[in-house]
Amino acid sequence: MKGLIFDIRRFTVHDGPGIRSTIFFKGCPLSCLWCHNPESQDSEPETSVKTLSLDGLKFREEEVSGRWMTVDEILAEVEKDRIFYDESGGGVTVSGGEPAFQPAFLSELLSALKSKGFHIAMDTCGFTSWENLALTINYIDLYLYDLKLMDDDLHVKYTGGSNKQIIENLIKLADAGKTIIARVPVIPGINDSDENFSALQVLLEQLKPAVTEINLLPWHAAAGNKYMRFGKENVMKNVKSMTREDLVCRKKVFEDLGFIVKIGG
Ligand code: SF4
Repeated sequence: MKGLIFDIRRFTVHDGPGIRSTIFFKGCPLSCLWCHNPESQDSEPETSVKTLSLDGLKFREEEVSGRWMTVDEILAEVEKDRIFYDESGGGVTVSGGEPAFQPAFLSELLSALKSKGFHIAMDTCGFTSWENLALTINYIDLYLYDLKLMDDDLHVKYTGGSNKQIIENLIKLADAGKTIIARVPVIPGINDSDENFSALQVLLEQLKPAVTEINLLPWHAAAGNKYMRFGKENVMKNVKSMTREDLVCRKKVFEDLGFIVKIGG
């Protein structure tokens, strides 16, 4: 069996504790307007065009995003840095796209990673069936669970999917006793309202002690170039990046409720 992977990044430090390798699955059931990895959304390999300059000359280079890989090929990659995981309390993170969008391959990979003793985190948008997510429960040490908009109509409008299943799955993971970090990408003018944050507080309060940590992720415009390369429309191109300072007040509110809060991952 093979899975479609668009990147394996080594020495990541924002995708769970310690030093990690992050495996990016290609394919996502959502299509968030602000997605930082537009190349992660389609579930087929995609070609992009890079323009390079050398000595005043311009060259166009094609690059394919997405490679079908076996579990053994991925294991060989992540094994290279085992010493760093062990010394830093790190491990391997599956991310995307959405890892649960390739449930059979994900399950096989997680089983292999677990048998090799890696600490495993899963970054998920939660927009999948409970059956798919349940396949991961015995293997995942830490879920990094994205929460975007609490109003369902707005969730559909800005991500292309309802939040009902996402919230139900989150509650089921918490009931199953899993450890979860809630990750909230904060997008100016879309989900940074008091209403959205109040509703998030109510939900997250109910999920203690499964959720004790929250990551607020300020939106930044760095992905603009990728939209151009992949020929995709960037509807956020005129929106200004947020800064850490923009989120200090939000952080304090969650801290006062007893959460550990980080701005950024
Ligand atoms: S869930 Fe994540 S990967 Fe999928 S479209 Fe949204 S931001 Fe992009």
